[in-house]
Amino acid sequence: MLSDYHLHCYYSGDSDETPENIVKTAVSKGMKHLCFTDHLDLDYPYDDCCFDLDIEKYYEEISYLKETFKNKIDIRIGMETGLEPQLSKRLDEKIRMKDFDFIIGSSHLVNRMDPYYPSYFEGRTNKEAYMEYFESILACLETCTNFDVYGHIDYIVRYTPYKDDTFQYRDFSDIIDSILSKLIDLGKGIELNTGGYNAGLSYPNPCPDIIKRYRELGGEIITAGSDAHKAIRIGDSFDKAQNVLSECGFKYYCVFKNRKPEFIKL
Ligand SMILES: [Zn+2]
Ligand SMILES: [Zn+2]
Repeated sequence: MLSDYHLHCYYSGDSDETPENIVKTAVSKGMKHLCFTDHLDLDYPYDDCCFDLDIEKYYEEISYLKETFKNKIDIRIGMETGLEPQLSKRLDEKIRMKDFDFIIGSSHLVNRMDPYYPSYFEGRTNKEAYMEYFESILACLETCTNFDVYGHIDYIVRYTPYKDDTFQYRDFSDIIDSILSKLIDLGKGIELNTGGYNAGLSYPNPCPDIIKRYRELGGEIITAGSDAHKAIRIGDSFDKAQNVLSECGFKYYCVFKNRKPEFIKL
C-alpha cells in the first residue's frame, strides 16, 4: 500500500514537521499518494495545545507542494475534524471554505474531555470509560455527517492508564455494531490507522475485529493512514496494515479525490 491518508504537519497544534519534509520523505519511501489531514478541533478545551487550523495558509502551502511535486507524487488536501454534536454547523462552514479532497471525522473529545489525559479515566472503570467514548461517537453521528471516513474508531484504547487493559470488540459488540451500521447507512467509510502500533499496541486502530465487522456488515470504504506527526513515520507499518485488511476480507482500499472514493487493489 503506497497511499497514506492520515498525516499531520506544522499546521496541526501537536506537530512541528514541515510539509515539504513530509513530501520529500514520502517520495524517498516510494509512496504514490499522500493526503494531508491537519487537525481542526474547534473549541479544544485544554490550554497546552491549540487545534484551530489556519485554513487559508494551510491550503495555500499544500497546493503549492501539490503542484511542485506533481510529477513525483499525488498530493491531496484534507482535514481531520474533531467531531462533537454541537459543532456540526461550524464544521460545515469551515469545510466549505476550500475544495478539500477528503475529510476524516474523529472523536478526540468525550463530553468535552480528551481521553489522551489520564484524568478522563479517574473514577471510571475501563469498561465505563470505553462505553462513554463509543456512546459519544453515536451521538456525533446524529448531527455530524460532513466527513468521508471515521477516524481511529477505538482511539481511546491507546490511552488507558490501566496496565491490565485487554480491549475486545466482543465486550462492546452491540454499540460498535450500531456505529458501523450507521456509518454504512450514511455511505461513510472507516480508516485503518497504524498509529496504534506506534502507541505500543499490537494492532492498529480500530482493532482487526472491528475492521472485519465493518466488512461483514457490508462496508467497503476504508483508507489507510499512519497518523504521522513526523515525516519519518509516513507509511509506517503499512506492510502489517495490508495483511490486516486482507485478513479482514478486503480486496481494495481507498483514496479520495473531491470527496469521492477511488478504489485501489490491495
Ligand atoms: Zn485523531
Ligand atoms: Zn490524526
